[in-house]
Amino acid sequence: MSSQKPLDVLIIGGGPVGLSTALQLTKLGIDAWCVERRATHSRHPKAGGLHPRTLELFHQWDIIDAVRSEAVPSHQAEGFRWTTRFVDGIHLGHILFADDAEALADAAEASPEPGCFTPQDEVEPILHQALLRAGGRYAFNTTAEILGQDEDGVDVALTDDSGTRSVRTRYVVAADGVRSRTRDALGITETISPVFGESVGVYFRSRRLTQLSENSPYALSWIINGDVIGSFARGPKDNKWIFNFARDPRLPDSTYDESFCTARLREAAGDPEVDVDVISILRWQHEAAVADAWRAGRVFLVGDSAHRFPPHGGFGMNSGVQDSANLVWKLVRVLRGTAGDALLDSYEQERKPVAEYNIEQCLINTERLKSTGFMVSDPSELATIELPEGEKIRRRITESLPAQHEQFRSAGQQFGFIYRSSALVSDGTEPEHSTVSDYRPTGHPGARAPYVRLQDPSGEFESTLDLPAGDFVVLAGQTGQAWSRAAESLGLRCVVISPPMTAGGTSFESLYGIDATGAVLVRPDGHVGMRVHMAPSNPEAVLRAGLGQILSNPAATL
Ligand SMILES: Cc1cc2nc3c(=O)[nH]c(=O)nc-3n(C[C@H](O)[C@H](O)[C@H](O)COP(=O)(O)OP(=O)(O)OC[C@H]3O[C@@H](n4cnc5c(N)ncnc54)[C@H](O)[C@@H]3O)c2cc1C
Repeated sequence: MSSQKPLDVLIIGGGPVGLSTALQLTKLGIDAWCVERRATHSRHPKAGGLHPRTLELFHQWDIIDAVRSEAVPSHQAEGFRWTTRFVDGIHLGHILFADDAEALADAAEASPEPGCFTPQDEVEPILHQALLRAGGRYAFNTTAEILGQDEDGVDVALTDDSGTRSVRTRYVVAADGVRSRTRDALGITETISPVFGESVGVYFRSRRLTQLSENSPYALSWIINGDVIGSFARGPKDNKWIFNFARDPRLPDSTYDESFCTARLREAAGDPEVDVDVISILRWQHEAAVADAWRAGRVFLVGDSAHRFPPHGGFGMNSGVQDSANLVWKLVRVLRGTAGDALLDSYEQERKPVAEYNIEQCLINTERLKSTGFMVSDPSELATIELPEGEKIRRRITESLPAQHEQFRSAGQQFGFIYRSSALVSDGTEPEHSTVSDYRPTGHPGARAPYVRLQDPSGEFESTLDLPAGDFVVLAGQTGQAWSRAAESLGLRCVVISPPMTAGGTSFESLYGIDATGAVLVRPDGHVGMRVHMAPSNPEAVLRAGLGQILSNPAATL
């Protein structure tokens, strides 16, 4: 065991979720270290679709411009299409975001950050650079293994080129991915849905595909024909593309080498001459699982080690990044001694139900895709699709497309979850729930504090989302000045939101469900922790009690 001062937090795994965790902790002054067993970041761009909530967090972490600069240009990411071949195929249908004006308007009202497509192999270096700029620590070629833990900390063996050494840390965040060894070593079981399909992803460069689709608005083209079923997703630059196609489980792994994958890709492209320069090939499974426990003493599972979803809906990395935002502020408060250990239990209480809901919905999305020809077990069923007699199957696919809309329009799923946990103060009301597609903003405790655009004469903030920025904040109704005095006495920031400050005609008070004297206490992760509908006789006592309950520390001061 090392005699050195223990680290605050060791993060096992330097993928997007480990990096997000390390970046936030470092920015908040915590002594954190992220170790990654591989020699480089992910070369394969698994995740691409970044949801608005994730981008709101990236905005807070000052990496939004870099992430957007590596995104697929918006005019080439306006929707999705279904076709028999990429080049000159029979167009089976499409979904264009612009066709759903109501959804676009709702999205703009829900968040100032529209979603974008920035591949994971671009996101990881951006997070890494931000971590280094913040003074954080990250090591490649370093494998971590938990040796044991006691009531004060965890002992971890780190193995790198120079050998193995033991490190003592107060907490461990295990962001070590789908096959998490940490999860297994801790004896944490998973609730697993059976594997229901396998795919192969080919990351490649092709000048011709880029030229052919220069003016195409589709970020993703689903390809359905008798030879191959798959999809082409465009990369943001350098003629990069991703081709995913169904893997035949009867064939051995060795079949899926570069020449085989290139041949399938050319079939899907419908152009035997298309140039293909393969960067990487990844075999992946359509599977769904959630860890049965997300905390074991001083060790926490985040990201894919805690949950894995089928990719349809794009919730994997997005959920993982949001797990980290939920956990980090809690770890920081406990490490600073301003919160009790029970606050850390609320991480699983809050995030596990979100993962379970996402799994359920991603499985529904996957099931619905089957009617578009995706994952057809008997490829001969599609053999006629390009022939005149294939009219029936083409029509069947076209008619099934409207049913796919929840996969591409999921604002309610992305924003509408409402936590229930010990780190919230109930106000005795029942929330109105969002549906998958329709987000119903609410100031109910546990909900993400709804976005309200603000006009601040000082220019300090532009929206309610800028206000928490890693700390607690009180948002009060227009005659809620008493909250300012109460907040000040507790070292909290308070913003009284008067109508001239709210842009776009939104009423802050009706959106949050308070009257002009009421207030909400927003937690550092941007979720409402407490809502008080109208001013109590002693706002300071109410705030103090609320803070104490949220932090599991009755004597709470910040
Ligand atoms: C085809 C496909 C498409 C997808 N599309 C999307 C999408 O559009 N949107 C989305 O949100 N998600 C998507 N996902 C999911 C997304 O890729 C994952 O959810 C994401 O990578 C999870 O990040 P993570 O950091 O938790 O795990 P990982 O990215 O797996 O990172 C874990 C890291 O831990 C390291 N590691 C493991 N063990 C150790 C150890 N003992 N010591 C040190 N390091 C260790 C690994 O080397 C790895 O780098 C997709 C996935 C696939 C397969």
